[in-house]
Amino acid sequence: MNAVVLLGPPGAGKGTVAEVLVNKGYKHVSTGALLREQIQLKTPLGIEAKKVMDHGQFVPDEVVVEMIGELFIEADSDANILFDGFPRTLVQAQKLDDMLDSLSGTLSDVILMECPDDVIVKRITGRRTCSTCGAVYHIHYNPADSCTIDGCDITQRPDDDEATVRKRIEVYDERTAPLIKYYSDKNLVQSVDASQSIDMVRGHVVSLLG
Ligand code: ADP
Ligand code: AMP
Repeated sequence: MNAVVLLGPPGAGKGTVAEVLVNKGYKHVSTGALLREQIQLKTPLGIEAKKVMDHGQFVPDEVVVEMIGELFIEADSDANILFDGFPRTLVQAQKLDDMLDSLSGTLSDVILMECPDDVIVKRITGRRTCSTCGAVYHIHYNPADSCTIDGCDITQRPDDDEATVRKRIEVYDERTAPLIKYYSDKNLVQSVDASQSIDMVRGHVVSLLG
């Protein structure tokens, strides 16, 4: 098993890049999407998670780590997993290392998607997401009337308003940005200028991952 991590602030375009990497054989794992699935199903985990997610805060490490642990149990031994939005804290990063070690898996690349705050705010406040499959659109940069994949409605996420985005950026800077050093010390980080166009960013990441 091999893992790749897309690291970067909310709205940097991790999910948008992941859409093309899926066609190259990666299994896309977004912890945000997994949590939103639990919210839609109204499970106890989803109901608890929604309370913190709507305020731009993180769900507890143990909840996310358990979700990823279950996924690892089900994954094929030759799977190529693309993490988007995980790990988000040092504790999660250490747990990921432990889980990969225990499965003789590797972490081959960490792609750091760098994007200034003002660009992030424009991207997230204009983001629209398919309520069924989670495909991502933007009112200016990738417009659509309905989902081009399954025809379902596209809506704004409850945590995509400006105030919550600014909170999420603050939480990223405080809790996730330290992962840049954690992974740089392991020589795993490759940076991408994520403020460029969707095609440019996708092309750059694909070229880095071969
Ligand atoms: P993340 O997964 O990092 O939170 P998304 O992939 O959901 O970010 O992208 C956030 C929003 O910005 C979406 O509406 C998406 O369509 C748009 N977007 C993503 N990448 C770019 C880009 N390079 N240029 C312009 N808009 C982008
Ligand atoms: P995302 O879809 O990546 O923008 O994540 C949406 C929200 O889900 C985040 O703002 C967090 O509240 C929560 N979340 C997603 N992934 C994680 C994680 N790895 N750790 C903690 N909270 C997470």
